[in-house]
Amino acid sequence: MIVRKSPMEIERMYASGQLVGRVLAALRAMVRPGVTTMDLEDRAVAMIREAGATAAFKGYYVPAARKKFPAALCTSVNHEVVHGIPSRKRVLREGDIVKVDCGVLLDGYYGDSATTIPVGSVSRETELLLRITCEALDLAIEQMVEGRRLSDLSHAVQGHVEGAGFSIVKEFVGHGIGRQLHEDPQVPNHVDPKVPNPRLREGMVLAIEPMVAAGDARTRILRDRFTAVTRDGSNAAHFEHCVAVTANGPRLLTAV
Ligand code: MG
Ligand code: MG
Repeated sequence: MIVRKSPMEIERMYASGQLVGRVLAALRAMVRPGVTTMDLEDRAVAMIREAGATAAFKGYYVPAARKKFPAALCTSVNHEVVHGIPSRKRVLREGDIVKVDCGVLLDGYYGDSATTIPVGSVSRETELLLRITCEALDLAIEQMVEGRRLSDLSHAVQGHVEGAGFSIVKEFVGHGIGRQLHEDPQVPNHVDPKVPNPRLREGMVLAIEPMVAAGDARTRILRDRFTAVTRDGSNAAHFEHCVAVTANGPRLLTAV
């Protein structure tokens, strides 16, 4: 069931979205060679606490892993696609990319956003991977208009990514968001005739999150039961924003 939000609820979701956006901006500013993924976690935890919010991922039960996620952030380096666990031992090095995914609960509403940050200077191909994935998200956001269908978003992402010669990670999808972190509908990044394809209506809020691999997009899960990596070891990018369908068009909640 898709839960549509009132304009007042969307204002609250904007507040949680802005907090997530500020956290990611602060982390982007601190990423450099020598920083560990746990340094990012520590900063995020402090900012979330200061804002009087709760980290949404920490303690979140993941059925596929049969356990709770242990941190506030997912930090996934290079071929790790999503759901990497912050660690003091994971030192970022020149040429790496780190995906940072952050979720918060503030005043009863969730915010969820992710970005991919280059560490120092990265290869030309990696730069292109990041740019194309980010652009694919922007194209999907443009489709968040009353009357369009969910598959219009998926189509926009898939066309842009595959047109550039990259591939879509299909095992993970975006989602509705609101009083729950994950609500209906599922938001696939490729056109999938097997999932419901509702019309977009005012008040729908979606977390749109293309995940893209430079090579083969098939993934496997590491022994920690959370971290998803590309099987072929190719780099992956991930960008995510929460977006509301409003009478005035798409409203981006997590961009600062
Ligand atoms: Mg996320
Ligand atoms: Mg999400």
